[in-house]
Amino acid sequence: MMIGLTAAGFCRKAGRTSGRLLRQDGTVSERPIRLFGDPVLRTPCDAVDKFDEALASLVADLEETVSLPGRAGLAANQIGVSLRVFAYNIDGQIGHLVNPVIEATEGEQEDDEGCLSIPGLWYPLLRAQHARATGVDRFGQPAVLEGEGLLARCIQHEMDHLNGRLFVDCLTGSVRKQAMRDLRERYIS
Ligand SMILES: [Zn+2]
Repeated sequence: MMIGLTAAGFCRKAGRTSGRLLRQDGTVSERPIRLFGDPVLRTPCDAVDKFDEALASLVADLEETVSLPGRAGLAANQIGVSLRVFAYNIDGQIGHLVNPVIEATEGEQEDDEGCLSIPGLWYPLLRAQHARATGVDRFGQPAVLEGEGLLARCIQHEMDHLNGRLFVDCLTGSVRKQAMRDLRERYIS
């Protein structure tokens, strides 16, 4: 079943602006997004082991970049940093998770999914309806991210990114064939 605009996928077809996390010096920057074909998207990210200013900056940039309308989730390797961090922007809530691990999933949802690194292409993809991820925040304090629907889809999509995997890799059957044709046309020819 496809549900239309409100439950659109990972980047969102329709979104909203929300709050911003400011760095201590008051600056943030929106970072360019790496696109399909960039090897950084195919490289499993390394665990974060330093909770320093560089990490705080990375988190600020991720949260700033994901806060733009139409964006729901962003992994660090999508802005060229191969570390296990992602940010989300779901229902006006912006946040991040460092060194995330999916602890549990439950149920199923099928809806269109898209990716900021593969702009303009959307395919229906079956995901778990509920997901719970644990990790830490930018200070190294334990954090839990848990939810249904779009948030659960976001967690699963971003975890794939951190493992060097893209959502189109999860497609099967005729949808996968169509996606491969679309990708070839768009990125190879
Ligand atoms: Zn993506």
